[in-house]
Amino acid sequence: MRNSLGNSGPTRASIALATASVLALSPAGSRAADTMQDFVLSPAPGTLAAQRSPAVSKFKFMFGAPARWEGALHWRYNPANAPAQFSSSKDAVVAQLVAESAKWTAVCGIQIAYDGETTAAPQTLAGGPDGVSVIGWGHPDMGISGATYVWYQGSANDMTLVESDMFLVPEYVTTQTQLTETVSHEWGHAIGLAHSNLEGALMSGPPDSTYTNGSTLAPDDVHGCRCLYGPAAGQTAGNVCSLPELIDFGTLAVGAASGESTVTVANSGSAALVISAIRTNTGEFAIGSNGCAEGAALQPGASCTFGVIARLASAGERGDEVTIDTSEGPYAIPLDATGVVASQSTAPNFEGSWWNAPGGSESGWGLDLAQQGNTIFASWFTYDAAGNPWWLTVTANPIGNNVFSGTLYETRGPAFNSVRFDANAVTYQAVGTATLSFNDANNGTFSYIVNGTSGTKSITRTVFGPLPVCRAATQATLATATNYQDVWWAAASGESGWGVYLTHQGTIILAAWFSYDSDGSPMWLSMTATQGAPGVYSGTLYRTTGPPFGTSFDASKVAYTAVGTATLTFGDGDDATFAYTVTLGSPPVSVTQSKKLSRLVFEDPGTVCR
Ligand SMILES: [Zn+2]
Repeated sequence: MRNSLGNSGPTRASIALATASVLALSPAGSRAADTMQDFVLSPAPGTLAAQRSPAVSKFKFMFGAPARWEGALHWRYNPANAPAQFSSSKDAVVAQLVAESAKWTAVCGIQIAYDGETTAAPQTLAGGPDGVSVIGWGHPDMGISGATYVWYQGSANDMTLVESDMFLVPEYVTTQTQLTETVSHEWGHAIGLAHSNLEGALMSGPPDSTYTNGSTLAPDDVHGCRCLYGPAAGQTAGNVCSLPELIDFGTLAVGAASGESTVTVANSGSAALVISAIRTNTGEFAIGSNGCAEGAALQPGASCTFGVIARLASAGERGDEVTIDTSEGPYAIPLDATGVVASQSTAPNFEGSWWNAPGGSESGWGLDLAQQGNTIFASWFTYDAAGNPWWLTVTANPIGNNVFSGTLYETRGPAFNSVRFDANAVTYQAVGTATLSFNDANNGTFSYIVNGTSGTKSITRTVFGPLPVCRAATQATLATATNYQDVWWAAASGESGWGVYLTHQGTIILAAWFSYDSDGSPMWLSMTATQGAPGVYSGTLYRTTGPPFGTSFDASKVAYTAVGTATLTFGDGDDATFAYTVTLGSPPVSVTQSKKLSRLVFEDPGTVCR
């Protein structure tokens, strides 16, 4: 075989660069060695480019698909250029090289035979194969301690290793320990193993893991070698070569369970294999269905399957390993997934009453939000330059992740006590913009520009009872809802332009009635209504004056004046009667009225809270 290289079929070379940042001469060299991709598969000059089949095994082989030696790997030592401490003890060096090869021949069916010294130099890609596998001293010029060049013959699916040349770099390999670490790893390349994608193996290395600078075979090294050569002569062992190199769940919404990825555990070894456990390390990846009974013996040729499921707790790149503990040691498979924030449909609904944060710090003004789909209709209850109650509205749409913005309108219309409310008399005037930006379901900021005055307020939910959870409704649930939180209006009588925002927590409804004063200017009244009979809430109506918006808010300047009483009587979740008696104006005028209200659905199917 080794004599027929010159006129045989396609020959490919793989360069395996070795190990050992600790062996590098400079910090710069150290970093380069740590990150070097060491699988450069290069066609030898004048040969056909063979198609390499993708690696499907958990174990990574030099050429993607398994390529192995047929019969023994015969090698020779060339002592030329060895550093002084090694050139003076040539036999000890050979003994060490043999001892490192014996770590592999002790556990798997590769045979490695030392054939004595040679004057032939180890070959690089440029030199090409010369028919003799040599370990010698030289400079593959990679800045690291060793490199192994491996050649094969055959087609992509039938590859036989025919030569491997191992370089030891005299400047980097200067101690017994360095010799051991470098050569034990390089022997793995020489027999056909590439770098593991697991950490902590002798064959760990870029691009998927980091060099360990170890000198002892890990279970992963043993299993990989046995997938090429089976167990060593005289050994019987179970072995699994059916595992995927990686389970990639792709992109998943945070909190959503993935589909189950099925793993087949097939025992292709020569003895029964006992599976003692199948496990992951983090809660984000879990074992699903499991047909691999713990403690049962998997006979040679038998197989079982289990599933792995991902459910990510946070966004970004997530990883773990699934480990199969067996009587032949652990097998581990890397797990990957990318978490993305949940879609808008499962994002928080910000509906409810909000005020300055921390809660209570600026009692007297507030924002009432109705959110339906991705649209927030916000009513801002504040005070005009004269300190009179003033309200503005904004229909805010998303401009970013949990950020909503829109145009602020001031509305004027018929006085609250009009006998017949004429919606055609309502006028809307754009006065600026408002932006709501939420950090989470309960905290955010409110930024505004009104007639050239800008400001930003930290806001939080107004809490006076158990906070309901709000979600998209169905038409049926609007009527059956028993939490009445929403913006309501006199739809039956077509009175577009005024309404009542209800914040409902427990047995208390905070009502904000946005309407118009006798001169048509915007005016709001508020009421804390408590439950009496089932579905009946009543309380005192207050007119509030306070510091003009845009000024430093002084809560002591807020004054509440009782102006009447009101009762909300709910026929169902989408039907209310709003009855009130109010005395306002100078001279005072009293009015008693009753209005039928229903929910304002501005984006089907609306929102219900429970
Ligand atoms: Zn390597």
